Amino acid sequence: MKLACLNDRPEIFHTIQGEGKSLGKPSVFVRLSLCNLHCVWCDTDYTWNWKGTTFKHNYDEIPDYAKYDKKAWIIELNVEEINNIIQSFNCKNVVITGGEPLLQQNELATLCRTLKSSKEGFEIEIETNGTIIPNISLDPWVDQYNVSPKLKNSGNSDHLRIKPKVLDFFGNNSKAYFKYVIESTTDLEEVLSMVKGHTIRTEQVFLMPQGVSAEELKKKRIWLVEACKKYGFNYTDRLHIHIWGNKRGV
Ligand code: SF4
Repeated sequence: MKLACLNDRPEIFHTIQGEGKSLGKPSVFVRLSLCNLHCVWCDTDYTWNWKGTTFKHNYDEIPDYAKYDKKAWIIELNVEEINNIIQSFNCKNVVITGGEPLLQQNELATLCRTLKSSKEGFEIEIETNGTIIPNISLDPWVDQYNVSPKLKNSGNSDHLRIKPKVLDFFGNNSKAYFKYVIESTTDLEEVLSMVKGHTIRTEQVFLMPQGVSAEELKKKRIWLVEACKKYGFNYTDRLHIHIWGNKRGV
């Protein structure tokens, strides 16, 4: 499988879940590389913003920002090797994140089956951008989907980011929770329209302020909480930003 590379090692680390339904839960994060979207504010752009591509990113304006060398930022491990690393932590909750994990769902199914079949009793969360339906060989092994459909503010074309059948699949899936990154009232209107159009239940939805610093999050928190109260959505903060800032692998 293709994983994000951090200091010559696969990005697999023991931390707490910082967002959404399982916020605060001790978890092992496994960060897979590759993504089918190209969000302009993505904070894991080292999983897709390769040299030689024309994708735009907000960081383009930073003078020393450069696209990534694909070979240097991907590390390949087989399922057994990943399983061994996960098993080395004393932690029962595993979060598969990305990039977009469902791009590698055949191998992911094998990894999840291996974890669920072990005596450790792992719980498995998969984070996804909501553009790919999990296949039948993967779905039975997953305990929770953290679905984060992208809004216009991501800079992706509507055609790439909105897949109605996929949204309907997750909207009707009792294991799925939706998390939306909100920057403005326009974003909120877009969420309301998406929720209504795809039979997504309000109790499945978490709104999260966009921001990669505590100051940015603070600015949007109050009005977003008020929006949650008004529409019956859940609020989630970005706990890891408050604790560690925008730092990888913690
Ligand atoms: S879907 Fe996620 S990983 Fe992919 S570009 Fe957007 S924020 Fe980044």
